[in-house]
Amino acid sequence: MKFWIHTYGCQMNVRDSEAVEALLEAAGHEKALGEGDADVVIVNSCTVRQKAEEKAVGKTGYLCSTGKVVGLMGCAVKRLGADVFKKLPKLSFAVGPRCFGLIPKILADGNYPRLETGDNEVPQGLGEHPLTSRAGTFAAVQSYVTVMIGCDNRCSYCIVPDVRGHEYCRPADEIVAEVKCLAGRGVKEVCLLGQSVLRYRCADGTRFPHLLRRLQEIDGLERIRFTSAHPSGCDDELVAAYRDCPKVCRHLHLPVQSGSDRILADMGRRYTRAEYLAAVERLRAFDPELAVTTDVIVGYPGETEADFEATRSLLDEAGIDNSFVFKYSPRPGTRAAARPDDVPREEKERRDQVLLADQERRGLERNSRLVGSVREVMVEGPSKRNKARLSGRDSGNRIVVWDCDGPASAEVGSLVRLRILEAHPQILVGTPVA
Ligand code: SAH
Ligand code: SF4
Repeated sequence: MKFWIHTYGCQMNVRDSEAVEALLEAAGHEKALGEGDADVVIVNSCTVRQKAEEKAVGKTGYLCSTGKVVGLMGCAVKRLGADVFKKLPKLSFAVGPRCFGLIPKILADGNYPRLETGDNEVPQGLGEHPLTSRAGTFAAVQSYVTVMIGCDNRCSYCIVPDVRGHEYCRPADEIVAEVKCLAGRGVKEVCLLGQSVLRYRCADGTRFPHLLRRLQEIDGLERIRFTSAHPSGCDDELVAAYRDCPKVCRHLHLPVQSGSDRILADMGRRYTRAEYLAAVERLRAFDPELAVTTDVIVGYPGETEADFEATRSLLDEAGIDNSFVFKYSPRPGTRAAARPDDVPREEKERRDQVLLADQERRGLERNSRLVGSVREVMVEGPSKRNKARLSGRDSGNRIVVWDCDGPASAEVGSLVRLRILEAHPQILVGTPVA
């Protein structure tokens, strides 16, 4: 059969969809050219906010009306359970985020409707990668690698632990073998995925900094990224791993969520504003140019103007290079959802806009410091906005664009040295240096 997968949500979902793609190809199915050309369409869903769930379910509802075999996978399935068929009566099958490995068998059985929500199992096919040729695209040289699944943190607002289950760390040997295999196939950059990768500790006792050291040794691999990190794991051992492993990119995605100690305590984040700042300080003492990016929630229950202002000032004090702002959305069954969602919608929107404007200003300020410096950039392909330009990222995950002078300089995955000429809030403009 010809299949097509639509993916919503985080990088973890992107990775899970790739695994399903590989499993389906191994079972003899063929990736379609697009949704219209497919016999079976699968939607990989997100439920971290209500809007995200509605998008995925809405798309699935539309697909069901086309008469194709339609499957829903991912986080929304686990949250909705059997109700998923009330919302989507024509849905063929639904599988939770930890049992996507069952999809080839479900298609073979053809016994619809079928629901598999799963629980805490380790999905079959976690380390599978699609065999289809992606030559010439960045997807051929960059790969996500799942190192942990699930989450045991239980932040008050978050539904992830309910839908993705308990934390499980893949054996370090398995991860190292997977990355070696990828590097052998031409992958230059891996991004290690988990909800809280700094908590990584596998059965043989290997912890995250040591995993980085093992990956550093892999021939052909140029860059190692990872996400997300919880501030409580940002210790001296991590800094030492950064220092000793030049392949580890000088970037840390360190979600802060709020700059107010009162809100942080209520969220159950287990760090204070001062501790967060100290963690950033430790990283920047090692490398002042190390990029720190973050996630913020605005409009958490009881968030006052003073709490919000504390968040604004924290992002400035920490010198955050990029921030992703989310408007609080109550998720059923979470601790925070038991409290009134008392910040009005317009106020959440206003706080969102204020933080976006702050980010533009701070992004420009921080990027301006890099003008004149020479940065090593991995080529990703033509710039989306201007095809006469190439685009890539520096070690700090900053987007850099430059005028290309012929295909020789355009090889995706190659590293080029660029002098920065111009700074903008979200991008840098450079020129090649010999
Ligand atoms: N495990 C990651 C986050 C995964 S969810 C971490 O802890 O860093 C990605 C982001 O979605 C979170 O960082 C948070 O900012 C946001 N988020 C999670 N639940 C939310 C909710 N109920 N409402 C709004 N944003 C939420
Ligand atoms: Fe959610 Fe917190 Fe776990 Fe991140 S660490 S997935 S925010 S519970």
